[in-house]
Amino acid sequence: MTMTRRSRRPPPAGGVGPGGNGQQIDRSGAPGTFDPAAFPTLDARLRLDGGAASARWRALLDEATTILSDGAMGTMLFAAGLQFGDPPEVWNLTQPDVVRRVHRGYLEAGSRILLTNTFGANRLRLGLHGLDRRVSELNRTAAILLRVEVEAAGGRALIAGDIGPTGEIVAPLGTLDYGEGVAVFAEQAAALVAGGVDLIWVETMSDLLEIRAAIEGVRRAAPAIPLITTMTFDTRGHTMMGVSPEQAVQALSTWGADAVGGNCGNGPDEMLPVIARMRAAAPDVILVAKSNAGMPELVDMRAVYRADPATMAGQALAMQEAGATIVGGCCGTTPDHLRAMAEVLAASSTA
Ligand SMILES: [Zn+2]
Repeated sequence: MTMTRRSRRPPPAGGVGPGGNGQQIDRSGAPGTFDPAAFPTLDARLRLDGGAASARWRALLDEATTILSDGAMGTMLFAAGLQFGDPPEVWNLTQPDVVRRVHRGYLEAGSRILLTNTFGANRLRLGLHGLDRRVSELNRTAAILLRVEVEAAGGRALIAGDIGPTGEIVAPLGTLDYGEGVAVFAEQAAALVAGGVDLIWVETMSDLLEIRAAIEGVRRAAPAIPLITTMTFDTRGHTMMGVSPEQAVQALSTWGADAVGGNCGNGPDEMLPVIARMRAAAPDVILVAKSNAGMPELVDMRAVYRADPATMAGQALAMQEAGATIVGGCCGTTPDHLRAMAEVLAASSTA
């Protein structure tokens, strides 16, 4: 999904920021700089519940060599009449048939992990529209809409509860208190879990401190659930806040993410080196590539993405060869793109 660009100069990544109660929060993911109980490892999570929460996720990993996720939700809703600036999550309540049709399109294309229509369904972003008291309703409904479609399609796909950024910057660079950020993400994650998601997918993050707050919030709500985390590397190979692919994969895997990668950004040409750099830095981490359909171009004040299905299909193979296990699309991708990607990935696995 897209997020508002800020004109501030990207600060150096890593380093230390203040947490709640004036406590210093290290954003580097270095061992010894965080409480392991708040960021449980896979082993610790399997001990918690005997693997119940992650059974479907681990079965999918065992079954498929490369897993196709879905493509854009926002792009499809704009095409169906959503007005720029309106919160897409409201359509879970007002236009549920449209949201379900988008999910159905990706299921028919072959997607095995689909994201709920909840990218901006956190208290802070919903508050911009006076909807901050409807976090639970919007997230639970989104999970149920997707579950209905997944079950109708045979139940072979997993439902990822989608969590995007708050839209605010964590202190001291910005004004969002770290502890409040954790609570905001925990509230959204709890609602998604109540709606029955199979996993949580935190996406389009630029700041390691904010994504750390998201992971901590998810773990507070659902200690054992599988967790995918992706950041957006759209600024000279780094995130807008200056995080490199190596820093991201190291920190996020240390904090207990089950899969790590990139989403959104400037298209597959810029995503490919991100995946290669993560693979070189962390050979054992499950990697994710969910690229936009090319570099966004501004036409009539709207972002336009020009990569066609054949181009994205070719790039899906390249992502697979670079080391990505989960491949999908972000802004500008449609069920046609995902179907083309599914076909080449299926052909490569039987070749
Ligand atoms: Zn995107």
